[in-house]
Amino acid sequence: MGGELSVANRFMSTVVIDSHMHCGIQNVSLPFEEIKGYQRKGGIEGVCLFAPVEDIYNRYDDNFQDTSSWITCRQMANQYLLDLQQLQQNVFAYYFVWNDFKKEELKKGYRGIKWHRHECEPVYHYDDPSCESFLQEAYRLQLPILLEESFENTLYFIQRVKGRTPIIIPHLGMLNGGFYALFHSSVWEDETIYADTALASSREIESFLERYGSKRLLFGSDFPFGSPYHELQKVNHLTMDREDFENVVNRNVLRLMGIQPSP
Ligand SMILES: [Zn+2]
Repeated sequence: MGGELSVANRFMSTVVIDSHMHCGIQNVSLPFEEIKGYQRKGGIEGVCLFAPVEDIYNRYDDNFQDTSSWITCRQMANQYLLDLQQLQQNVFAYYFVWNDFKKEELKKGYRGIKWHRHECEPVYHYDDPSCESFLQEAYRLQLPILLEESFENTLYFIQRVKGRTPIIIPHLGMLNGGFYALFHSSVWEDETIYADTALASSREIESFLERYGSKRLLFGSDFPFGSPYHELQKVNHLTMDREDFENVVNRNVLRLMGIQPSP
């Protein structure tokens, strides 16, 4: 019961940013007010927000065909986050992209791109020329892309982007083929590839830190799938010095979004 509110992080002065949270108010109810409550409970000052998949496409329909109502829903879902970013401090909106590849949206101030698909879900049209122009715009704006895709498509995508903008692999790869599959494909060695800690095991987080250091790992919870409080406690319990801890919970994500961390 009590007690929880006072727990922020091991180094009390560090500003913590949760780099992976879902927020939306259409097909699921994850309003920002709820996020705020979790921030307070977890001692989390900043949040990177993505729309819920449910507002982007019908993930349960293999033959999903886009419709004008889905396009509107998607537009509103992304816009909701952009509006929050403008009104609230330390809120960072990511643009959740689907097959309409609206590249003109990207320059409205989004801090990154969310690209999401699981095996058996409707596919991204990688061969569509508008996919290529969308990516070109992402490179121009240097927007990081949080990529959750099948193992094969993850490797394909990394090859295609070729380091022209950073890629973040969520969950240390759990849903992109697994941490070790990516490890054996040398994905983690690439200096432009980042990972987040959401729902990853402490063992995987520790092996990543041991091998590659702390500059390419981001703290994230994947709220509502993970609890921001518990996910932060997991990171708190790892043996890390202050510098490494600050990289993971604050500096790396700010650098990726082109924001200067406070000294
Ligand atoms: Zn997520």
